[in-house]
Amino acid sequence: MEPEKKLPLSFFERLPKTDLHVHLDGSLRLSTILELAKQDGVALPATTEAGLRDAMNLGRNCGTLVEYLRAFDVTLQVMQTEEALFRVAYELAEDAARESVRSMEVRYAPMLHGRLGLKMTQVVEAVLAGLRAAQQRYGIESTVIICGIRNISAEVSLEMAELAVAYKNRGVVAFDLAGAEYDHPAKHHKAAFQLVRDNNINVTIHAGEAYGPESIAQAIHFCGAHRIGHGCRLRENGDLLHYMNDHRLPLECCPSSNVQTGAVRDLASHPLKLYFSLGLRVTINTDNRLVTDTTVSKELWLCHTEMNMPLRDIKTMILAGFKSSFLPFHVKQSYLRQINEELTRFSADGKIADAPTRATGDPPWRDPAARLLRPSEPPAESVASVS
Ligand SMILES: [Zn+2]
Repeated sequence: MEPEKKLPLSFFERLPKTDLHVHLDGSLRLSTILELAKQDGVALPATTEAGLRDAMNLGRNCGTLVEYLRAFDVTLQVMQTEEALFRVAYELAEDAARESVRSMEVRYAPMLHGRLGLKMTQVVEAVLAGLRAAQQRYGIESTVIICGIRNISAEVSLEMAELAVAYKNRGVVAFDLAGAEYDHPAKHHKAAFQLVRDNNINVTIHAGEAYGPESIAQAIHFCGAHRIGHGCRLRENGDLLHYMNDHRLPLECCPSSNVQTGAVRDLASHPLKLYFSLGLRVTINTDNRLVTDTTVSKELWLCHTEMNMPLRDIKTMILAGFKSSFLPFHVKQSYLRQINEELTRFSADGKIADAPTRATGDPPWRDPAARLLRPSEPPAESVASVS
């Protein structure tokens, strides 16, 4: 039996985890926005952290997805140089590593970063370099998902798909469609999806957030999605729900964000618990660390405190995150072995056993962490030692 007492947020910060649905342009630090604006001469709606928090509606219920997306008008203004892109990518990975995220898939739409004339390749390279620098320092594995935007033209989506193809096996792992879902069906972007599918690139699509289950069906059957972003309205179609379950198609759930965009009424009525109990592969993600004012730890903690999910269910969702990532199969297997082992240290009574120490002189094949290192990677600094 799980104890009645709820586990604290700090406990969830120690659990190893993934973040498979996180937008670069929604996950900056407020202090960095202010610094970059000053440096690049960008006028912001406020000049203090508190003022900006208010002007951008951070962490607030916005009522609709379109209202929620307004905060991005501010963040995009300061993300138009290689230096800024490197920095925000680095800091996002640093923040994630500090809450024990081990594997992260960062998504963004490169065409939104060309206002000052940056070439799309420069945009992609700068973000990859920032993530790589953070990986070298903290050991966090980060890859990139390139987004097309529903409410921008199909031609631009095709250009983004071409970029995803060009950077396949060079840090980019998938293609996504984000933006305003209502009135902007994914099938309008058919050429982009055809190109990425022809090149065996993974597909994930925001669907069933601001539109019904038809949007999810279209994402899967017409665009070839391997995962679904949000899927809040999947519960309205039982047949499709079972199809996703039978095919182990994961859901990228972002509970707090879904409340803020009005996709669900409140956390207690979020369908993720229903999906989980039916056996669906449910993963927990941030969506936007800044705009939603959250972390993966906080989202898992909210599942525990607001939806009464016990630790064993939280662990299952953590493992679903590693299973659902777009990493190569053998890498995922290594992660799963290691994370399974690590999770046994965390007990439902809130106790965390020390990590087993390897005797000096043990061969590296006895160390699961060593197996995860890629050629030419320096050993990762322990996340626990990051101040
Ligand atoms: Zn999203």
